[in-house]
Amino acid sequence: MSECTHDCSSCGSDCSERTQPQSFIEPTNSCSRIKKVIGIVSGKGGVGKSLVTGMLASAMAKENYRTAVMDADITGPSIPKMFGIDGRADGSEKGIIPAETSNGIKIMSVNLLLDNPTDPVIWRGPVIAGVVKQFWSEVVWGDVDYMFVDMPPGTGDVPLTVFQSIPLDGIIIVASPQELVAMIVSKAAAMANMMHIPIIGVIENMSYVLCPDCGKKIYLYGESHIDEICEENNIPLLCRIPIDPAISSACDEGKIESVDGGCFRDVVKAII
Ligand code: ADP
Repeated sequence: MSECTHDCSSCGSDCSERTQPQSFIEPTNSCSRIKKVIGIVSGKGGVGKSLVTGMLASAMAKENYRTAVMDADITGPSIPKMFGIDGRADGSEKGIIPAETSNGIKIMSVNLLLDNPTDPVIWRGPVIAGVVKQFWSEVVWGDVDYMFVDMPPGTGDVPLTVFQSIPLDGIIIVASPQELVAMIVSKAAAMANMMHIPIIGVIENMSYVLCPDCGKKIYLYGESHIDEICEENNIPLLCRIPIDPAISSACDEGKIESVDGGCFRDVVKAII
């Protein structure tokens, strides 16, 4: 074994004195200057992580920040569709050129590289992690103030590798009331702490439904306890999003940028 340099970030040894995880972070493309990278995480799929990523990026772009979205949810990519982007990404001698939305948000997703966007991605963990690393190092992102990364769900091998491959400045946890929220939030918080990544806060999605007749909030999954859970974990609760058919149809029609930003304007303020 070679002599210890005490730089755990570049060392793969499983030694008892390890103080931080090994870093697999590679440099970005020489044409990319990315100031801040925010990861959007969730305990499982289907809770609205991609929706939050898209809404947040739209709200940030509306504040005139140069914004990008990296769709690292490789096996469940939904970012291009919600922004109404189809077709394939172009390449140049400098690298892969990201797609751009009507508001100028730069997007990279595996769906922009597949021959057919409905083809399933049946790849093993290391291949998925390799693609995410390529999104970081081979895409010509240009100048970006805020990049939002739609992370793979959960705390398994793939999200862990992605955590280690991209220099995240902070994470936002998305949870929905029907999950075992307390456990999900504390697991995600523990993972972020182990990786030394600050938690910006929690967004509760599908919190309630607004009655279309009287405007009363209906808690389909019972009264939410997200306030207490956030307080116990010392994490800010950033936003509560209702189940809203207008949101899902805007996503289906590729018009997420036209949805009213609502509380996402406050989330943007918590980030900048
Ligand atoms: P995830 O990224 O966590 O897998 P998505 O963001 O893709 O989840 O959301 C799953 C589905 O639920 C999508 O069709 C999305 O449009 C819908 N959805 C998510 N949040 C809401 C909401 N608050 N109101 C209505 N539909 C929603």
